[in-house]
Amino acid sequence: MSDAVQRLQAVKAEIASAARAAERDPADVELVAVSKTFDAAAIRPTLEAGHRVFGENRVQESAEKWPGLRADFTDVELHLIGPLQSNKAREAVALFDVIQTVDREKIARSLAREMSAAGKKLPVFVQVNTGDEPQKAGIAAGDVEPFCALCRDELGLDVRGLMCIPPVDEEPAIHFGFLATLAARVGLPKLSMGMSADHETAVAFGATHVRVGSAIFGARTRAVA
Ligand SMILES: *Cc1c(COP(=O)(O)O)cnc(C)c1O
Repeated sequence: MSDAVQRLQAVKAEIASAARAAERDPADVELVAVSKTFDAAAIRPTLEAGHRVFGENRVQESAEKWPGLRADFTDVELHLIGPLQSNKAREAVALFDVIQTVDREKIARSLAREMSAAGKKLPVFVQVNTGDEPQKAGIAAGDVEPFCALCRDELGLDVRGLMCIPPVDEEPAIHFGFLATLAARVGLPKLSMGMSADHETAVAFGATHVRVGSAIFGARTRAVA
């Protein structure tokens, strides 16, 4: 077994026990394996082991890696978890199955336009800047309600839930609890939160999607945006 497959199984077991500890059904937590910076050869063993849900943060890198892998594994579900530029919206809609990073009106409008042109209605998440960090993408907490209304009612996007990346130097649990409260307020069932270091905490706070990279594929040697 490859190291990545062994670690993948370990992460799945951690998620399952965190779910049971929170009296949740482990099947209600989707593990999004974050394969950014790793090449197709590194990803392939996890596909052969049966994993199908992956996250990537760049359109260009995904366009290079995933069409080849999808030819062999047709039921892959690929999530965009990185910032999107309007001029990449068409390519993103063609490549990805879920867009987790709808973080401003311009992107919401571009995605709506490209999805309707492509005859697709991809599930999306609204990214929330729960730590109110000036450099970080995401909708301000106070704007989540009107922004979700715009996405759903005016643009017809299939908004499933909220996504956040807590500030590195703060207790993640506070942000996970806050995101769960916001999602309940706007009536959204899905929560994408928790990464390698804190996915079990996220599950305790109701995460339906955890995004785990280095705990599966190992440390990234290339810096990412
Ligand atoms: C890279 C990345 C992850 C995975 O991070 P790890 O700490 O390696 O698990 C999760 N979410 C987003 C948005 C990322 O960019």
